Amino acid sequence: MTTTNRDTKTILPGATLGVLGSGQLGRMFAIAAARMGYRVHVFSPDAESPAGQVAQFETVADYHDSDAIAKFAKSVDVVTLEFENVPALATETASQFAPVRPSGQVLYNTQDRLREKRFLQSIGIPCTPFAPVSTLEELQDAVETVGAPAVLKTTAWGYDGKGQAKFDTPDQAADAWKQLQQQPAVCEGWVDYECEFSMLVARSTLGEVVSYGPILNHHENHILDFSIYPAPELSKYQTEANEISRAIVEKLEVVGIICVEFFLTTDGRILVNEIAPRPHNSGHLTIEACPTSQFEQQVRAICGLPLGSSEPLVPAAMVNLLGHLWQPNEPNWVAAISDPSVRLHLYGKAEARQGRKMGHITVLADSEAEASRKALDARDVLS
Ligand code: AMP
Repeated sequence: MTTTNRDTKTILPGATLGVLGSGQLGRMFAIAAARMGYRVHVFSPDAESPAGQVAQFETVADYHDSDAIAKFAKSVDVVTLEFENVPALATETASQFAPVRPSGQVLYNTQDRLREKRFLQSIGIPCTPFAPVSTLEELQDAVETVGAPAVLKTTAWGYDGKGQAKFDTPDQAADAWKQLQQQPAVCEGWVDYECEFSMLVARSTLGEVVSYGPILNHHENHILDFSIYPAPELSKYQTEANEISRAIVEKLEVVGIICVEFFLTTDGRILVNEIAPRPHNSGHLTIEACPTSQFEQQVRAICGLPLGSSEPLVPAAMVNLLGHLWQPNEPNWVAAISDPSVRLHLYGKAEARQGRKMGHITVLADSEAEASRKALDARDVLS
């Protein structure tokens, strides 16, 4: 049997949803799915994982183990993912037994930064200036094209600033490439931006599209630090950002949910930075702030159910809790949640490494300013 993503048969509660990947996104997906009466089966190489702890079924095996992938896919009604670097072989194998949503083709276009930027360019979407780099000569040409300062990013496996090296002048470019061990890369012009924001867009098997955003994001050391939604200062960019993200899900024929990350430049343009073909850290606040969270929306989209409302009900802010907060002692949870508006989410990770996303806090309040202040205060009292 070969299943297809064009199948519009509704997958009803009681069915089993398969997830490739088992981190915090899979955990929050599994919680949303369980609330709606679905069972969840997660597949990843990691035991004792954040998603495995809350899912009904867990397979611990390598993504290249085709027999294990086939057995997993036969046991579920649909396969989704929470991690974009799933090998193509895994999605191809799984798709012989269950629909994979979003499809391997979506991953193909979004796993590799160069392919992603070429795709955006091909459909006329404004993105950061870029040029491909696979040799020193190409690097020199790239710097001529995009100028300096610039940032060199490996085409594969980059996230949270990993696989990136910024340089300020053309003569520092070769050092940046050495730093990335001369891996194939994209050289991007450095953007002077006012702020960063994201849009989350869900598209169902029936082609229905619903989006959230703009969500205002602030990064520290290339890692998301806090998000605010709604962001009144971005409301005038909402229509354009919506059109861009809708065009992306439609052209890619996404079934599921994606995140489109943007820069708002100091001269008032919006540029796409990157696409994540899954729920996103900046959307965690939708759990409390919206009638339908990004995770429930992913469930609805892949199951062919009607999509839910994404309208924010009240202003919300989310702050990330990274591993360093566990040093030198376990954070003071009691102090942080003594404010009743503080909603604590922890991902069940045993080892609190520096920079590792361990949990987050969301606060709803009467204004965005109050929500952010309370969320930041709650994090401060943790340590
Ligand atoms: P990325 O992994 O591409 O999302 O990059 C991580 C973070 O680095 C972004 O959220 C920005 O804060 C910063 N960054 C990446 N690319 C650029 C750029 N071309 N210009 C300015 N800042 C950038």
